[in-house]
Amino acid sequence: MNTKYDVVVVGGGHAGVEAAHAVYRNGLSCALVSFSYKTIGQMSCNPAIGGLGKSHLVREVDAMGGIMAQATDISGIQYRTLNTRKGNAVQALRVQCDRELYKKGIQDILKKTDIDIIEGEVVDLISNQDIVSGVLLSDNREIIGKKTILTTGTFLNGIMYTGQDKIQGGRVGEEASIPLSKKLYNLKLPMGRLKTGTPARIKMSSLDLSVMAEQKGEMPTPWMAISKQPTEHKKQLSCYITRTNKTTHKIIQKNIHLSAMYSGNISGIGPRYCPSIEDKVFKFESKDSHQIFIEPEGINKDLVYPNGISTSLPKTAQEDFIYSILGMENSLIEEYGYAVEYDFIDPRSIKPSMETKFFKNFYLAGQINGTTGYEEAAAQGLMAGANAANSIKQKEPLILERSEAYIGVLIDDLTTHGVTEPYRMFTSRAEHRLMLSQNNAEQRLLKIAQRADLVSTKRADNFDAKEKIYQKYLETKILNKKIKTYTNLNNEQIELKEKTSIGTVLKRTDVSKENIIKILETKNSDLHLLNRAMVEIKYSGYIDKQKREVAKNKKQNLKEIPLNIKYSSITGLSNEVKEKLNKSLPTTIGAAARIEGVTPAAINLILVHIKKAELQSLNA
Ligand code: FAD
Repeated sequence: MNTKYDVVVVGGGHAGVEAAHAVYRNGLSCALVSFSYKTIGQMSCNPAIGGLGKSHLVREVDAMGGIMAQATDISGIQYRTLNTRKGNAVQALRVQCDRELYKKGIQDILKKTDIDIIEGEVVDLISNQDIVSGVLLSDNREIIGKKTILTTGTFLNGIMYTGQDKIQGGRVGEEASIPLSKKLYNLKLPMGRLKTGTPARIKMSSLDLSVMAEQKGEMPTPWMAISKQPTEHKKQLSCYITRTNKTTHKIIQKNIHLSAMYSGNISGIGPRYCPSIEDKVFKFESKDSHQIFIEPEGINKDLVYPNGISTSLPKTAQEDFIYSILGMENSLIEEYGYAVEYDFIDPRSIKPSMETKFFKNFYLAGQINGTTGYEEAAAQGLMAGANAANSIKQKEPLILERSEAYIGVLIDDLTTHGVTEPYRMFTSRAEHRLMLSQNNAEQRLLKIAQRADLVSTKRADNFDAKEKIYQKYLETKILNKKIKTYTNLNNEQIELKEKTSIGTVLKRTDVSKENIIKILETKNSDLHLLNRAMVEIKYSGYIDKQKREVAKNKKQNLKEIPLNIKYSSITGLSNEVKEKLNKSLPTTIGAAARIEGVTPAAINLILVHIKKAELQSLNA
């Protein structure tokens, strides 16, 4: 085994594996150092990939040569598209996975690469002044790399809490990363504490599923990956829905002072959008019931993940409230819920390339940057790996625009605004979301990925061939067929003034797609082409408008702000805006505009100020 590599990746979680794989794709040598081989690709919390805003990231990672979507399809036991009543852009695929098969899927993909996997604990960075050149392991081994990527997740000084009990650990059954955390603090990096939590795991055979609502998967079963799919789906399983009730809430209220999160034990801030059951009961006091999704942990696995009751109450209180829930009265608890508090590094200290501003050749990706979620971690890992490789190859940094990808939104939000709580992706974070559906990730990103050496020529050729077939389909004049009536979404017959082509009718917002499929007598094999055409035509007007706006803003956004600008001397800017600008010191108008609270009016004032200064220096 080598000890010198192009890139050293620390951590075999979702960020780490994508980072290492992106380096491998680039044909460079890579070491992936992690506590244990067995936990590479481990899902720490719920065994599910995708969901609102997140499936967009997964498909983008897939379009850029990443592996998360493929592992999802190797292990998917229930697929469901969410938001089907809403517009195409915000629809999202969520896949329940078999936890063990997902991890095995990731490990099997890595086995086919030449990435060196090294078991060990990283305790220090090897650095000379402000240049990092590898890592030191606890057994004194040195692993040298031209670039180092840190993806340590929830492990940095991780402390797990169940009620008043607290133990060191990154997640259940695994040790925390303490010496490395101390080293990073000693380097005076801008660090803070965040927290997250997880529910108890319960034996499925102990639950009465007959009193719960069954939720079956989607038929026909879709795939997460666009790149490469297995020959068939794994056995598909149902999820079940039950609810908390007044008794459950009373038990939680009675024990709240014992909850680690509420007793003041934990100072870190938790994910607002993934609240614990304690949070839900207290913050939404008027609600006397909350939904719980009973999600199987895997095929032939007698275990469920009760999604919605994450908790840090003591074990006995967890038992009491769980036993009060319909269908869960006789629950056999395999593992108790807990909260984990960990260090993160302020992501404003990384550049959009994911390289840190304070150390050269040193990159951060994943939960360490203040995010939460497997998908957010994977997206950052891929970009850190790609950028480390790019930099070694002396190429320009790979930076995706906010209008190109959710990955662009994620990294821009992190590096511009930092985080005040664990950051998760939502479609509402993307102002250009109409252009960014989960279904057009390949069209948006594959060519960019090809230029960054992230996808093979074969895959790029396949993509070109698929696009040609689609263009041909559009040219078949099939959409020129004229109709006088159509069925709307409420199943009503709408009479048109005159016979109109289907292509034009599709631009109406109320057309039933099923009706059009029927009229065109579409063959099954052409269905995906028609579906794509219907979406693209329907939204073409809005998308063209967004594209024009993006083009207009692009020029203005790139305008540089002089480093010596004095915001205090710009009349009309509020003190709050001045303070924010002085803190962030944006280098371009685009970066200034993205700072929360900096309004378009404020941007205009800054532009006028810069223009005046430019004129003055010309006349001087
Ligand atoms: P991780 O998946 O944590 O991987 C870190 C890797 O680094 C591990 O392989 C570890 O072994 C390795 N490592 C760490 N330190 C060292 C070291 N010094 N030397 C060598 N190797 C090291 N996300 C949600 O979206 N919703 C939730 O409800 C949610 N709940 C969670 C509950 C719990 C209890 C936990 C632990 C996590 C939860 N998450 C949740 C977060 C989710 O697990 C992470 O967002 C995701 O796993 C982050 O991926 P990552 O690659 O950044 O880190």
